[in-house]
Amino acid sequence: MPEGDTVARQCRILDDALAGAVLTTCDLRVPRAATADLTGWRVAEVRPRGKHLLLRLTPPVPGPPPMTLHNHLMMDGIWHVDGKALRSSDTSAGPRSPDTIRILLEARREDGRERRAIAYDVKQVQLLRTADEEQLLGSLGPDLLDATWDEDPSLRERAITNLAAEPERPIGLAMLDQHVLAGIGNIYRSELCFLRRLHPAAPVAAETDLGALVDLARRLLVLNQDREVRVTTGGMLGRDGNLWVYGRGGKQCRRCRTRIERGELAEPRLEGTEARVLWFCPRCQAGPRCPPPAPPRRGRRR
Ligand SMILES: [Zn+2]
Repeated sequence: MPEGDTVARQCRILDDALAGAVLTTCDLRVPRAATADLTGWRVAEVRPRGKHLLLRLTPPVPGPPPMTLHNHLMMDGIWHVDGKALRSSDTSAGPRSPDTIRILLEARREDGRERRAIAYDVKQVQLLRTADEEQLLGSLGPDLLDATWDEDPSLRERAITNLAAEPERPIGLAMLDQHVLAGIGNIYRSELCFLRRLHPAAPVAAETDLGALVDLARRLLVLNQDREVRVTTGGMLGRDGNLWVYGRGGKQCRRCRTRIERGELAEPRLEGTEARVLWFCPRCQAGPRCPPPAPPRRGRRR
């Protein structure tokens, strides 16, 4: 599942392409929005909120309220602009089947240039009043890539408070919970636990400096939001040396040479959800309640 930095990057490219342009085609291929006609509406901006993409639109004539076209990349969603995939290391940037188009937008900019943006496989496509965005997303925790993060210390404080609210919860689950803080996905979960020397199944209380954890999470997301290939190791380890533990089961820990293990953590409160795989170094991240390593599984690893 794409991480917050990927979503932010796709939003920025979409915003560069579409902001200020007037829609000449708006084809929403989802049942709940299929009849909406937004031709003539102007794209005001495209903004991320955690892992959600918000395409804000203003009406062609005074009267109707501004609207937001919401979507979420979930596992496999990706936007293409002018036929080019907005590449990321999270999702395949290869060709997509036309059957998986969920949003097709064509827009004319003031300079007369036509732009085309297509969303493949995105989920949760819906149109709502921009004024109602909070109803949809207000329960999200503070967004680690919020543009006001540095000026508004309450965001960081709220992230810390939210994490600390459940000291017994496994840290590897708390970090992924977008209602606690928004932006961390499965890759950063594994990498952050390694960098903070925390076993993913250890309770939140095992992290003695939650502020440092939040600061590190934000720093990594900010550093990577303009990159196509995500790096958490500082980029000094050469080719294939971008990540510490994620996806490296059976390989040597870059720090202590112990074999990286693969585990799973299930969210007990969300019955029926699939446990998500993670990786850790059993030596660097020795901790209580280590889950047994999971057997190798074929197929998708996210
Ligand atoms: Zn190690």
